[in-house]
Amino acid sequence: MTFILPRAAFVTLALAALSFAAYQDHGVTYDDTPELPGQAYKVHGERPVPRVVTPGNAAAAPSDAIQLFDGTNLDEWRSGDKPAGWDLEGDFMRINGTGSIQSKREFGDLQVHLEFSCPTPTKGNSQGRGNSGLFFMGRYELQILDSFENNTYPDGQATALYGQWPPLVNACLPAGEWSSLDVIFEAPEFDGEDLKTPARVTVLHNGVLVHHAKEFLGATAHRSVAKYAAHGERGHLQLQDHGNPLRFRNIWVREMTGYDEGEK
Ligand code: MG
Repeated sequence: MTFILPRAAFVTLALAALSFAAYQDHGVTYDDTPELPGQAYKVHGERPVPRVVTPGNAAAAPSDAIQLFDGTNLDEWRSGDKPAGWDLEGDFMRINGTGSIQSKREFGDLQVHLEFSCPTPTKGNSQGRGNSGLFFMGRYELQILDSFENNTYPDGQATALYGQWPPLVNACLPAGEWSSLDVIFEAPEFDGEDLKTPARVTVLHNGVLVHHAKEFLGATAHRSVAKYAAHGERGHLQLQDHGNPLRFRNIWVREMTGYDEGEK
């Protein structure tokens, strides 16, 4: 069957094609706009184009990520000055009481993705159930805990900035299920021994926002108020062995570099 377009539709399509072509030929940047304050570029002006990154998903890291754990080995990790000793099984690693592990690489500002699963059958309660943690720069803990129907002090529940801030919401899945954490961590800045800018995190737990640019009060402490002590610009990530056999998989990071302000 032949489908015949009415004449008017043809004209409309032709005009649409023309206007698209005209738009493509036209320069896309402006040069008659004001300068952006603090930048060497104009509003909508010509400037370096952000590079293209293929987005990932729960199963695959983005194209420019540093894969810290893909299920095959623990080469990116150590436990103090010894090799990381957690069990390796299937596509995950499991805490086994051999101690916390640290990334061999050190980072400043970064994006982190990891997936974890709390132990089943559930055992213990409060801080004794599915306790681990993700420490930035070896100091600032984002709490990992089985907080699915498990009461504890709110600033110690899953995704709390431990001892400082509870999450906005509890987005925990039942133990045994795989949960994701996506974190944007901004390292603190120091001026000599003095704090200039505190560490901040934005956290998505299973895709749910639980912190937005929340400031750490200082290095994680138990039963006391956290304080800052000046340190270097980079530090390792740490996964805590708190004696509970949580599983981890698919850990990757992307380092953040600054916005390009241009040469002034
Ligand atoms: Mg912990």
